[in-house]
Amino acid sequence: MSNFDAIVENNDEISAWIKWIHFGVPDEESKKRENKRNELVTFLHCKICTVLSGCCFVTNKMPGHLPPEILHPRCDCTYKFVAASQVKRQARAICPIGKFNSYMFKEKGIKGGKDIPYLDLGFDIEDSAFLAMEYERQAKEKYTHG
Ligand SMILES: [Zn+2]
Repeated sequence: MSNFDAIVENNDEISAWIKWIHFGVPDEESKKRENKRNELVTFLHCKICTVLSGCCFVTNKMPGHLPPEILHPRCDCTYKFVAASQVKRQARAICPIGKFNSYMFKEKGIKGGKDIPYLDLGFDIEDSAFLAMEYERQAKEKYTHG
């Protein structure tokens, strides 16, 4: 690894990020976004492309380091480069508390239950809010580091 490669690898600002864009799809998760995506799919737009719209990806982890001009015939997607600092500011991770208090800890005490690893680590259903926030924190940190 050259010195330059080491600098690039250790400097998130140098890593190139792209934002995937499908026309007409709002970036923010909302009913409006979902309705627009469903509408586009009925007109034969690619469902995967509408899902990717608004998402950011670090290019040095992509095969070939840049997405192809088009993903498939009649693709309407494009992308633009975005600053890593913008990705870090706008990135968010969501882990609903229900993943823990209504799922992981649902079958408390059952042999082989999903809660066993958490109980072994000293967590219980009362720690669900903390666990959800910690999962969100770690996911956002991992994502923004590419
Ligand atoms: Zn597309």
